[in-house]
Amino acid sequence: MTTFDNADNREIDKFDRVSQIWWDPKGEMGTLHTINPLRTKFIMERIPTPNPKILDVGCGGGILSEALAKAGAQVTGLDLSEASLQVARRHAQQQGLNIDYRYESTEAFAGNQAGMFDAVACMEMLEHVPEPGKVVAACAQALKPGGFAFFSTINRTLKAFLFAIVGGEYILRLLPRGTHTYSKLIRPVELKAWNREAGLEFVRLASLMYNPLARSWKVAPDKEDVNYMAHFKKK
Ligand code: SAH
Repeated sequence: MTTFDNADNREIDKFDRVSQIWWDPKGEMGTLHTINPLRTKFIMERIPTPNPKILDVGCGGGILSEALAKAGAQVTGLDLSEASLQVARRHAQQQGLNIDYRYESTEAFAGNQAGMFDAVACMEMLEHVPEPGKVVAACAQALKPGGFAFFSTINRTLKAFLFAIVGGEYILRLLPRGTHTYSKLIRPVELKAWNREAGLEFVRLASLMYNPLARSWKVAPDKEDVNYMAHFKKK
């Protein structure tokens, strides 16, 4: 495995190992499939550009990349899990979707493609990276002036520990065990600070709320809960 500056090999290894289940909606990645229409809408409804160029950072097996492409975006997906990228490439081909998947660090890619994208999506990825602020800065670099960045992650609160880790991984099994480490979860105030330092201004935030009885998710605008998505704009 190649070593990259701002990547945790244990994390990448974890995603390499689960790469075969990305596209199993009933499998351990099922939650990503369930929330996918909600997050795709959160992203696409605010981008005014037709057929926007979107960079999907930490794209994994391409669950979000494909939905964005189906909604009309021209998508480039970046990840450091080679096994996941292989799955993503094969799946997109089967779907007849043209998505450019690349095995490249966000920082290196953004250095070469500065100012090229209308939007960057980086979902459920920052909490797996040693220095998330650097990824945020690279996302900002890849954006055109006026472009949008969308991040989603998990809050670092007691409620998040109980719901996302204990409940999600051990009780309800919504995610594979060991997916998240409490100390690496991210508070909205921290995400906002990294964005500010990178020249991105805060636009809005929403939480994805899980109803365990109905087993369904809904979007709660302006709420800082456990699973949240945030939208920023490059000045
Ligand atoms: N964004 C996708 C997948 C989330 S899982 C979705 O929401 O559907 C997190 C992904 O981040 C995994 O595919 C993992 O390989 C990737 N990842 C972890 N560290 C990374 C890094 N430093 N650079 C790029 N991708 C990384």
